[in-house]
Amino acid sequence: MPKVTTFGLTFARPSHSAISVSDTTASESAAPAASPRRDFIREMVADDVVAGRFGRAPSTRFPPEPNGFLHMGHAKSICLNFGIAQEFGGTCNLRFDDTNPFTEDVKYVESIKRDVQWLGFQWDGEYYASDYFEQLYEFAERLVHNGRAYVDSQNEDEIRAGRGTVTSAGVAGPHRNRSVEENLDLLRRMRVGEFADGAHVLRAKANLAHPNMIMRDPLLMRIRHAHHYRRGNDWCLYPLYDFAHGLSDAIEGITRSLCTLEFKDNREIYDWLLHEVGFDNPPRQTEFARLELDYTVLSKRKLLRLVNEGHVSGWDDPRMPTIAGLRRRGVRPEAIRAFCDVIGVARKDARVEIATFEHAIRDDLNTLVPRVLCVLQPLKVVLTNYPEGQVEQMEASSYPPDNARSETRLVPFTRELFVDRDDFMEDPPKKFFRLAPGKEVRLRFGYLITCQDVVKNDAGDVIELRCTYDPATRSGNAPDGRKVQGTIHWVSATESLPCEVRLYDRLFSQADPDAVSEGSDFISALNPESLVVMHGRIEPSVASDAVGTRYQFERTGYFMSDEVSTANALVFNRIVSLRDSWAKEVKKG
Ligand code: ATP
Ligand code: MG
Repeated sequence: MPKVTTFGLTFARPSHSAISVSDTTASESAAPAASPRRDFIREMVADDVVAGRFGRAPSTRFPPEPNGFLHMGHAKSICLNFGIAQEFGGTCNLRFDDTNPFTEDVKYVESIKRDVQWLGFQWDGEYYASDYFEQLYEFAERLVHNGRAYVDSQNEDEIRAGRGTVTSAGVAGPHRNRSVEENLDLLRRMRVGEFADGAHVLRAKANLAHPNMIMRDPLLMRIRHAHHYRRGNDWCLYPLYDFAHGLSDAIEGITRSLCTLEFKDNREIYDWLLHEVGFDNPPRQTEFARLELDYTVLSKRKLLRLVNEGHVSGWDDPRMPTIAGLRRRGVRPEAIRAFCDVIGVARKDARVEIATFEHAIRDDLNTLVPRVLCVLQPLKVVLTNYPEGQVEQMEASSYPPDNARSETRLVPFTRELFVDRDDFMEDPPKKFFRLAPGKEVRLRFGYLITCQDVVKNDAGDVIELRCTYDPATRSGNAPDGRKVQGTIHWVSATESLPCEVRLYDRLFSQADPDAVSEGSDFISALNPESLVVMHGRIEPSVASDAVGTRYQFERTGYFMSDEVSTANALVFNRIVSLRDSWAKEVKKG
């Protein structure tokens, strides 16, 4: 292993420091290097550069634990860490914080790499905390040697009791004053596996009376005879978060270790350990607000429960706030990055409205994707005066008039059509400008038609509308200048294609799913209607489009064909609904 010297310490660097791009998942677009935006962290980094504070370029890391898939909260952290490296000409590492053998798995490592790249970022170094175990162990010996750590043989309860409370100081346990020799002997035997789990732990010898409870001799290492997905069974002395994290940052030469606010109290032990181990110019931890998004949960533990208990179809269920779920739903990385830009980085936690995210998604797709006609709840219309067997090809513009693109396509028009059930009312209120007995309406890209009659089944449900069309209105307007307010979408009953349309809605019916009554948990806040499957009909122009093509279904929303979609069984996912009704858009056009 090559030896590298950085800011005063010599240590072995992992030999796989070259960027690994074995995961070939192409990002839809690389994140562009933006000009530095101002938030308190960027101000601080800019100041580091001006002051030459670390004697090295700004260096950040994104440190996921590979125990689940990445979610929107991680996206915020990714955009921040990689964004800073790009903007300030520094580096950003991807470091797997893999120090818990019970929960971690290589399948999560792979999903995380794929998702970071898909979001448009490429790491400088790919590192694993588990590759640092030997080095961390050496640091542990150094601390013991300097009288800054000791082996404690009390059990968990005894250790907890000895810590005291917020109002009373802790008391030294019976092993706190073991000699350096005895500590070293025990530590070495812990490492080679002589003891059972829990027999001994390594603790910092810090301050048992410290007002910050974390400083009261925190645990640094514990024995775990377990299989680690990367180290196998060759290691049994596992570092705890506080011990592993800061030292891993220091090993990599990180300058600013960015984490969420719940780690604020851990900053003291972070600094203490780096000082005691002897790093000059060590990294500094800075906390920012965690992303909490309404109507969803951003915690791997909770998302794992949704997967394990079958509330969703998997980590990539399109209702999940995971990167994999959003990708499958049809959200583009550009929208996620734009959203992270809009919400910014603050020092105080605050929930973010889901509407902010939906806005970013619509904004991204609006000028980009073609419009098509799809009827979600087909109701048959027969044009009684239209020639049987005739098929007219109507020229339809795929983008609104103000769009730079001006493609058109042909949509077949026939005697039998489908319109959406919602666009007909037998007994409509006054301002209903759609189909009703005796009323005239415009078919998008087609003729004006008038409803003459309704056909009902034995149960009294309307199953067919009998209408007439005005052959002089192919342009969409009547030559005599009569006014027709409403425009509705339609497809040919005989030329259209059947399709399954999955309407995804909020996963939870409550803005804060954790704010549920005593005795229940976030599971009880699940929205039973978060997935509604429709069997619709779509214009045939989409038949040959590749899986993963995105559209706007006029008047309905943005959709993408799902990965299971085939030419014979089309399946579409709703990415997001349209906020504004299409009627307005048409008037504008
Ligand atoms: P979870 O609670 O979902 O398991 P975590 O913090 O334990 O999240 P890690 O894999 O340890 O997940 O996190 C990797 C990085 O992502 C950390 O720096 C963490 O602070 C950050 N991160 C995780 N969740 C959020 C969030 N909701 N908002 C912002 N950053 C987050
Ligand atoms: Mg964690």
